[in-house]
Amino acid sequence: MTEEQEVFLQHIQKKGLKRTAQRDLILDMFLRTEEHLSSEDLYRLVQKQDPTIGQTTVYRTLKLLTEAGLAREVRFGDGVTHYEHNYKHQHHDHMICSECGRIIEFFSAELEAIQDAMAAKHRFQVTQHLLRIIGICAECRRALREADKAQALVGTGAKQTSARAR
Ligand SMILES: [Zn+2]
Ligand SMILES: [Zn+2]
Ligand SMILES: [Zn+2]
Repeated sequence: MTEEQEVFLQHIQKKGLKRTAQRDLILDMFLRTEEHLSSEDLYRLVQKQDPTIGQTTVYRTLKLLTEAGLAREVRFGDGVTHYEHNYKHQHHDHMICSECGRIIEFFSAELEAIQDAMAAKHRFQVTQHLLRIIGICAECRRALREADKAQALVGTGAKQTSARAR
């Protein structure tokens, strides 16, 4: 058994639930993906392995994984809850591209320290924080620049034609 499986088993037993092949499979699929999965995404992956597993089972198991500290919820502002690995994964924050949905993970010790200092200043006890920066990624910015350039070329082309016509 892996450490994660043991953590999960302990949690289920504490809750008076049984270890099932379905739950094991869901855990396994979750651990194999280094992504920010929604319950839907995980359901689709699990379905490929075992079509008898229902969506509710996947959803409930994800909740169990979160309670057990194996998964954590992340929200990217699209109204969908995503889940990522939590166990022995260092805390990080996210930049989200509003054009293509790309997610960039980053960690800044300085930023974290400033947040802690701010909380302390307000005598605020932090239990969790989610920092989400929305913007346009490098690739989309390049694509947008290219589109602008093409647009500008069309513009000069039109001017030249009209100049020649005169
Ligand atoms: Zn952070
Ligand atoms: Zn993008
Ligand atoms: Zn992440």
